[in-house]
Amino acid sequence: MLARIILRATLCTMLSTPMLAAEQDKLSIYTVNYPLQYFAQRIAGAHADVTFPGPGDEDPAFWQPLVEITAGYQQSDLILLNGANYAKWVNRVSMPRRNQVDTSAAFRDHYIHVKTGATHSHGPDGEHSHVGTAFTTWLDFSQAVEQAQVIANAMMRKRPALEEVFLRNFIALEADLLGLDKQIESIVTNKTDLPLVVSHPIYQYFQRRYGLNLQSVMWEPDEVPSEAQWVSLERTLKEHPASWMIWEGEPHPQSVKRLRGMDVESIVFNPAGNPPEQGDFLSVMQQNVNNLQRVFK
Ligand SMILES: [Zn+2]
Repeated sequence: MLARIILRATLCTMLSTPMLAAEQDKLSIYTVNYPLQYFAQRIAGAHADVTFPGPGDEDPAFWQPLVEITAGYQQSDLILLNGANYAKWVNRVSMPRRNQVDTSAAFRDHYIHVKTGATHSHGPDGEHSHVGTAFTTWLDFSQAVEQAQVIANAMMRKRPALEEVFLRNFIALEADLLGLDKQIESIVTNKTDLPLVVSHPIYQYFQRRYGLNLQSVMWEPDEVPSEAQWVSLERTLKEHPASWMIWEGEPHPQSVKRLRGMDVESIVFNPAGNPPEQGDFLSVMQQNVNNLQRVFK
């Protein structure tokens, strides 16, 4: 009798174990920006908690997290890095090497190197410069797919039993990213000569992938440019007669108005380094693509 009770108790424990194990097996993943968080969460589904702990109002490329926040990275199972010299703080903080994944290392040889550019500041991080390696790798959606693939592989190494799930989710994400890629290619086809101005030097990979004719200024969406900056734009437009400026965020109404006076219209192509207030990576990128359609129609 006693034996039977013990057996039943053991069975009960065994039956409840899979649930418990699934909870405990949940991967803890930290990323250095929102695109990587989005990719990782899509691939992991319910099998990971994916955290990007950035404050949301600072560019994650130049952000310096506090010690309490870096502790979260140090304790996670996977630390997803963007590579391309993004988030330089990762070189200054010691983190377990075996958990770090440089998602763009596979195309390191194709990084774009920016040679000139003034130092400037945005946000509370102080001054920075865009000289060095261009880092907005994911705006070339074929590169975004490569980064997502690296993330999927890293998860499979950590949880081999979930390989099929991760693969299935990756394939769905890949289809979405390639969908954006195809849309942009068809929008710009035969019109890649069209001169455009971009508000900040973050569109290098985007420009290369889709063969666009871009010139960059160093403006901020939420700041009205100085007179010197307007004069400089006028000079640029003489040689590069753009009728559109592409902004990384919603531009200040005064900037939009003054540009319109110069026959330059504004659209937003948001790189979404931070989580959007509404929607997700995919819906923001789809909106970007729709905006681009107005430029090339
Ligand atoms: Zn900048």
